Amino acid sequence: MHRPGAGSEDEERYRDGMQSGVFYSHLDRQVRPFIELIDFLRSIGIEKDLALPAIAVVGDQSSGKSSVLEALSGVALPRGSGIVTRCPLELKLRKSFGGKWKAKISYQGVVETFEDPSLVEIHVRTAQNTLAGDGVGICDDLITLEITSPDVCDLTLIDLPGITRVPVTGQPEDIGDQIRRLILKFIKKQETINLVVVPCNVDIATTEALRMAQSVDPEGARTLAILTKPDLVDKGAEPDILKIVNGQVVHLNKGYIIVKCRGQNDINQKISLADATRLEMEFFKNHHHFSPLLEQNKVTTQCLATKLTQDLVDHIKTSLPYLTDQIREHLETVKTELKKYSTGPPLERKKMGPYLTERLMDFIDKIHELCRIGNSSEKNLYTFLRPVFQQWDSYLSNTKGSFLNKVEAMIKNYDKEHRGRELITFSDYCVYEHAVQKHILGLQEPALDVLKAIRDMVQAEFRHVCEACFKSYPQLRCLALTKIDEIQMKQEAKVEKRIKEYINMERLVYTQDSIFVKGLKDHKDQLKEAFEEEHFYDPEEIEDITATFNCTAFDSRKLTTDKLGVYYEIVYQRLADYVPMLILQFMLKESAKMLRIQIMDLRDGADVVKLLSEDSMEGRRRADLHQRLDRLKKAQEKLSEF
Ligand code: GDP
Ligand code: MG
Repeated sequence: MHRPGAGSEDEERYRDGMQSGVFYSHLDRQVRPFIELIDFLRSIGIEKDLALPAIAVVGDQSSGKSSVLEALSGVALPRGSGIVTRCPLELKLRKSFGGKWKAKISYQGVVETFEDPSLVEIHVRTAQNTLAGDGVGICDDLITLEITSPDVCDLTLIDLPGITRVPVTGQPEDIGDQIRRLILKFIKKQETINLVVVPCNVDIATTEALRMAQSVDPEGARTLAILTKPDLVDKGAEPDILKIVNGQVVHLNKGYIIVKCRGQNDINQKISLADATRLEMEFFKNHHHFSPLLEQNKVTTQCLATKLTQDLVDHIKTSLPYLTDQIREHLETVKTELKKYSTGPPLERKKMGPYLTERLMDFIDKIHELCRIGNSSEKNLYTFLRPVFQQWDSYLSNTKGSFLNKVEAMIKNYDKEHRGRELITFSDYCVYEHAVQKHILGLQEPALDVLKAIRDMVQAEFRHVCEACFKSYPQLRCLALTKIDEIQMKQEAKVEKRIKEYINMERLVYTQDSIFVKGLKDHKDQLKEAFEEEHFYDPEEIEDITATFNCTAFDSRKLTTDKLGVYYEIVYQRLADYVPMLILQFMLKESAKMLRIQIMDLRDGADVVKLLSEDSMEGRRRADLHQRLDRLKKAQEKLSEF
């Protein structure tokens, strides 16, 4: 495995990679592929699905945790006495090939970037103050500091608050427990290598950090102890330290390493990290008791880096089968879950146009199906509309009675109210015509009510289809809904105008003579039939009733009601059909056609990406699943090549 850009410049940086933290200089070619594998898995965002190895520090307050991380990473973190690290800090080192040193700090929705390494401390302090307040409190919220530079290796280091026992002023009584809980959350992860940091001048046997690490890693497979501040060992106590390092006090599988980091004095004197590493080496070389440890690889940050690198590689190696299994399992879950979600829009731009057409066609087909005559499927608009038209029919037929009653009342009072100088029985046609006109005008509102009812139903049904077809595409849905509403509004106005025109026309009071005469004859026949049924063929009486219809025999006024009844019947038939036909033609047939045309027009010059952008839960979930699937597949491929 070869990194692009790895060349002589890179190798040079290896050799004197001091400024970039000791860790970097220790990644030789044998271990690099493993680190690179993890880098790759990280770079494709696999961390969202699987936990990857990280290094966490655990120890008492001021034991030197931040200093150790600083020496390893080359990133100056806040250090000092008292509680300095108050929130977990995830230090993500990302190697870049060329380019400047860059940092991105994120916490609680805040994301800030900066390009000056000396600003790390102030940024971390600000973040901590934001999360945990200005005082001495702690907070579980994670601060993520991502550093991209050609001079780091891809690694995740986690700095944690130190263990305290006695709360200081301003700290809650249970601060110790809070911190312990927080530390445990990180160190119990199987993927984490735990560095237990203990100052040389402290009794290791009673160190709580060590006990905590042992509780989560009884085998000691991922626990390494670091002894700090060797320069502060009491004179004469050195042999005790040697006993510890040699595992004679507390045995640890992975053993101990002594490191000397920058003390407060070194920092005050602005000693660089590179110089500090050199000074550290000199310190051990010249140390009366500790110098033999150099050869045994038990001292210096350099040595810690080598050991840690090896541990990390071992850890990756042992994690690989587990990682592979995990990836396979995740893949299965993602695939099963994806099946539950309907397919979404294609991700490639050029496939989006045809996909949009497909979606629009689907909508159009559904609208067509809804309005199709003879459609036997369960969704047929006519089934909904028919009862409304039937109601209109019964309404018209029922008003006949009230109309005739009014006419009869009018006849009764005719002489009093309407008769002029004409002889009796020569009544005025215009008066009756007016009665018909008045009644017909009264039918306008009910006819418009039918129109309104049908419009509401058609609009609701069309909208329903739209919601279903474009459920995941808010832009498309909104456009289509607007079109539906606009068309329905326009068509309703059109039909309303025609109904009004028609009602106005009906006030002409007209029918062909032949139709009217046929109506009169049918009516007469009906009456005769009814009478015969009632009177069992009494020929005399039948003669009488027949004479009644011989329009000349009696006062023609008595017959007027019957005649108007016959005419109303003709009007009723015209209206009962014409209103529904108008409505069907314009509100359903024509509006469906207009909608189909306008929807297809949406393709012209459309911003396909925008139209197909999803915001529904389902869309987001599916997009997320697709991304996961992609990541996992890549990871699987990479692992199988390894
Ligand atoms: P933390 O609270 O565990 O993160 O500890 P820090 O890293 O903040 O260190 C606490 C203090 O100890 C700081 O002032 C460091 O400069 C100092 N310190 C760390 N390591 C050493 C060391 O090896 N020698 C000396 N003399 N001081 C050290
Ligand atoms: Mg610290």
